[in-house]
Amino acid sequence: MKVLVLNCGSSSLKYQLIDMDNEAVLCKGLVERIGIDGSILKHEKDGMDGKHIVEEAMKDHKDAIKHVLDAVADPKVGAVKEMSEIDAVGHRIVHGGEKFASSAVLTDEVIKAIEYCTELAPLHNPANLMGVEACKAILPDVPMVGVFDTAFHQTMPEKSFLYGLPYELYTKHGVRRYGFHGTSHMYVSQKAAEMLDKKPEDLKIITCHLGNGASLTAVDGGKSVDTTMGLTPLEGLIMGTRCGDIDPAIIPFIMKKENLDIAGVDKLMNKESGVLGMTGISSDFRDIEDAATEGNELAQTTLEAYAQKVKKYIGAYAAEMNGVDAIVFTAGLGENGISMREMICKNMDFMGVKLDAEKNNVRGKDRIISADDSKVKILLIPTNEELMIAKDTVKLSK
Ligand code: AMP
Repeated sequence: MKVLVLNCGSSSLKYQLIDMDNEAVLCKGLVERIGIDGSILKHEKDGMDGKHIVEEAMKDHKDAIKHVLDAVADPKVGAVKEMSEIDAVGHRIVHGGEKFASSAVLTDEVIKAIEYCTELAPLHNPANLMGVEACKAILPDVPMVGVFDTAFHQTMPEKSFLYGLPYELYTKHGVRRYGFHGTSHMYVSQKAAEMLDKKPEDLKIITCHLGNGASLTAVDGGKSVDTTMGLTPLEGLIMGTRCGDIDPAIIPFIMKKENLDIAGVDKLMNKESGVLGMTGISSDFRDIEDAATEGNELAQTTLEAYAQKVKKYIGAYAAEMNGVDAIVFTAGLGENGISMREMICKNMDFMGVKLDAEKNNVRGKDRIISADDSKVKILLIPTNEELMIAKDTVKLSK
């Protein structure tokens, strides 16, 4: 069975065509600048030299998806002979609110429910839905499944998801912690159990998804019981450009001092903060590590602040779960940031966390990187949200 996995942003989309008989990625690509001058599709196929580039105006997601399907079924660079070989499409949907605790077939009723959740993710859900609509228009008879970033966290108990705000704000407006990156946290926690030859039900795991966006999840017995992101993906860790946890009183304070309106302060916290705002250098950890190596003290302090926040939540989640068996690192920085993993795991031997420097000297591979005598296992697992989406799509479209 061949599944097309789509991840639509407001002006971009990523795709993979996966053969679920052997879980091989047949081809994949990225479209950028949809609806903007300079639309571009970059497509690659397993075994192909370089990338197939299409630079043509793509006025909307439907246009972009048509180009994607043309590339996927292209005789030279494609992976199928005809579009009809695509058996199902899996869509990443960011916010499923409280309505979706698992993936769902994208019926009209389900699409309406996703539209209802748009208020909670005004930047993401409309783009995801544009992709669904465009795909349905072009492939009307192909089953479509939605896989939600929030679904894995729907097992969180009320004590984890309620804020210290009037309860009415939850009942009236749905103000609560939802959590994100659920597909990734679920994948790496299940993979960790497999690598440790244990059942997920028998493990307490802390999963650290450290990418441009970053979140930690406490996974107890295979279920998310707490996570650092909240109503939106702004809460929790310091991120590339997002501030994470701050004193909420800072918001009215800086609005007044800097003469900012709601949109201005929202932009400041989401796009101009995080390690970019702290250093003024870049949102990319490689640039900050380089600057720190060259002696930039602020860059060094920023890296330490980042690591400390991760460490703080690891401690908190170990306390919440009454222990931890494994810590998993994933996503761009988690998979590649050798020195960041070292900084995070340093001085945690008091709770049985001991990294092996030599084993840690690895990027992007499934590995156990803790010392042999470490009570808590530390794992490096490259995330694979696309495979997870494809698996659910197969399950639901049969
Ligand atoms: P993601 O959102 O998962 O694609 O992660 C992107 C982030 O991973 C980038 O902002 C980089 O800062 C970080 N990253 C990727 N490769 C490396 C590397 N070799 N060393 C440190 N950080 C990296």
